[in-house]
Amino acid sequence: ARTPCTPPYSLTSFRSTFRFRTMASHIVGYPRIGPKRELKFALESFWDGKSSAEELERVATDLRASIWKQMADVGIKYIPSNTFSYYDQVLDTTAMLGAVPPRYSWNGGEIDFDVYFSMARGNASVPAMEMTKWFDTNYHFIVPELGPDVKFSYASHKAVHEYKEAKALGVETIPVLVGPVSYLLLSKPAKGVEKSFSPLSLVKEILPIYKEVVSELKQAGATWVQFDEPTLVMDLDSDKLEAFTQAYSEMESSLSGLNVLVESYFADLPVEAYKTITSLKAITGFGFDLVRGSKTIDLVKGGFPPGKYLFAGVVDGRNIWANDLTASLSTLQSLEGLVGKGNVIVSTSCSLLHTAVDKASETGLDEEIKSWLSFAAQKVVEVNALTKALIGNKDEAFFTANSAALASRKSSKRVTDEAVQKATATLKGSDHRRGTSVTARLEAQQKKLNLPILPTTTIGSFPQTMELRKVRREYKANKISEEAYVNTIKDEINKVVKLQEELDIDVLVHGEPERNDMVEYFGEKLSGFAFTINGWVQSYGSRCVKPPIIYGDVSRPKAMTVFWSSIAQSMTKRPMKGMLTGPVTILNWSFVRDDQPRFETCYQLALAIKNEVEDLEKAGINIIQIDEAALREGLPLRKDEQASYLDWAVHSFRITNAGVKDTTQIHTHMCYSNFNEIIHSIINMDADVITIENSRSDQKLLSVFRDGVKYSAGIGPGVYDIHSPRVPSKEEIVERINKTLGVLGSNVLWVNPDCGLKTRKYSEVNPALSNMVAAAKHLRTQL
Ligand code: GLN
Ligand code: ZN
Repeated sequence: ARTPCTPPYSLTSFRSTFRFRTMASHIVGYPRIGPKRELKFALESFWDGKSSAEELERVATDLRASIWKQMADVGIKYIPSNTFSYYDQVLDTTAMLGAVPPRYSWNGGEIDFDVYFSMARGNASVPAMEMTKWFDTNYHFIVPELGPDVKFSYASHKAVHEYKEAKALGVETIPVLVGPVSYLLLSKPAKGVEKSFSPLSLVKEILPIYKEVVSELKQAGATWVQFDEPTLVMDLDSDKLEAFTQAYSEMESSLSGLNVLVESYFADLPVEAYKTITSLKAITGFGFDLVRGSKTIDLVKGGFPPGKYLFAGVVDGRNIWANDLTASLSTLQSLEGLVGKGNVIVSTSCSLLHTAVDKASETGLDEEIKSWLSFAAQKVVEVNALTKALIGNKDEAFFTANSAALASRKSSKRVTDEAVQKATATLKGSDHRRGTSVTARLEAQQKKLNLPILPTTTIGSFPQTMELRKVRREYKANKISEEAYVNTIKDEINKVVKLQEELDIDVLVHGEPERNDMVEYFGEKLSGFAFTINGWVQSYGSRCVKPPIIYGDVSRPKAMTVFWSSIAQSMTKRPMKGMLTGPVTILNWSFVRDDQPRFETCYQLALAIKNEVEDLEKAGINIIQIDEAALREGLPLRKDEQASYLDWAVHSFRITNAGVKDTTQIHTHMCYSNFNEIIHSIINMDADVITIENSRSDQKLLSVFRDGVKYSAGIGPGVYDIHSPRVPSKEEIVERINKTLGVLGSNVLWVNPDCGLKTRKYSEVNPALSNMVAAAKHLRTQL
């Protein structure tokens, strides 16, 4: 039998001295990139061969130490370890299990940087593993590939190392592991067994490794272990739920003597999942997201296992707003009423990985707006303040300051714009759609554009050089004149235009040299947005994004892109695509206000982008791409919420271009596949041409058309993966396009890379695009 749950520190003496009850606070996970993106720079320098593995490890060790120390200093009791990663926590789990696909030629032993980063990023001879979005966030994980022959072995001791590392620093932690069932549910079947194999059938095979890890952790002195099982919030059918029962029952004896926390997040649990998980004997604590999971309290009312711990995620890990401490405290108190005093542990709704790191580094933010915000470092303090308040040791001053900040946000004049509110109110319930069918429009456009079959294009950005970043930075800091800035950017556009002409690309782009980021650029020009200097959030690997903060009603004071697009068009006779970010993507990639429904904010954004589309058209731009890279990612995790999201998201997109002429060609671009389930919504967006991620997920996308979905608009499934430095050969691209031609007609097919080229180098882009154009030309002669 298990000993009663004890927190990592023995608090018995503490308890007898003070009249307060045991204090227990918990953090699900913490950003690993560093307050100034230290990890990013260390990784990139290592990848570039500019620094050694030891140097990279040193930066990583320092980051981990400072994070643990920071949480310990605040007073957090359950501090996570193993939430650090050199690339991604799912890939770390793949390494832990030794589930390296054979093509990476790993010869056993502890997995090293070479094998690890080859899986993540590919190497000279093998492309990277597939990457996909982590639930509905903008974080990406490396998808495990598992077949019936996989031989698991304990090949990365990272979890144990990190636990010991923290312990050596005097910090007791909870090691965090991606749970075995979620790991399998997030895996895909290996090549060759796509249709016939279910990775979940490997439950029995991976548990021995988990048991080994757990036993080593126990030996090292761990008293708790946390299994992240976020798939619990999905609509899982009963055999999938059964896998949880199987896994945690099977591990029960190995787990005995340990406290086990199963953490869920991003939504509440469906009733069946809740019942399944709370009935498992091996589990002592259950973590729930109380921010997105609005029905969690009702579930707990329906029954909670006596004597067990409820880790109450009341502090939002997905946003940057200060917590409503008074409201959270009352939620926590009602939970205590349900599960018993001392059984509620205050926590974050999910890992803080998905929010910005530390507000303290924001020296440029307006003080009023800053008082409304709370980043990861501040959220840790909020968790602690709530914990103290819950046991009767409330910090009145802290709570009063919090109420004042919330009141100021509520009444601030800068939040509300009556005109915008009115304009969006009239949009609801009405439809917006171009008057002519897409087939008729494409015909009208072709008369004007006169493009070859299999037209070639790119997605928008060209490599972002150090010099470009420097020029933008200096211009922003008023260190160089407007004239000097404009000239530099013009020169860059000219270079990119000339390059595309030399490569003989059909539809050109200006390369986006004036943009730091496809969302931030627009946010800076719209009202209702605020910006951070260091509010970075990890997106994939070393890549971070800095989401703007939408705090008020959105409008467009003046044109945002017309100046640059017109200049670019004047440099060439070929069509130049105008390049905009769509409303849904701006919404999904920003920190969005939580004081009105998301669709309200989205409609406001749609009206602003509509103004821009119409100004571009007036300026003579005949092709306008409105990127909706993040439309799929905003899809709610639970099926019963999806239809409504898709409805307002697609409507928002159509609002932006419902007013253009038939001859104006509207493109949209989307990153990442898994579009199959929303293909009808994508068609319903009614764009003339869609460019779409395809190459990294083995043309999963195409199966939907093979299955008979009718598609008559233009479509460019990406012909090579831009996330990898690898240059695809002409033959390889020909083969890919040929596969696509088996499914989609040559009259609708476009040829383009998967996504923008900004993260690549010219030394990779030039040969890749040259091979791409050669492939298209070769195929034109055959059709
Ligand atoms: N137009 C953008 C670019 O090329 C699109 C990027 C994206 O979809 N993430 O950079
Ligand atoms: Zn993209």
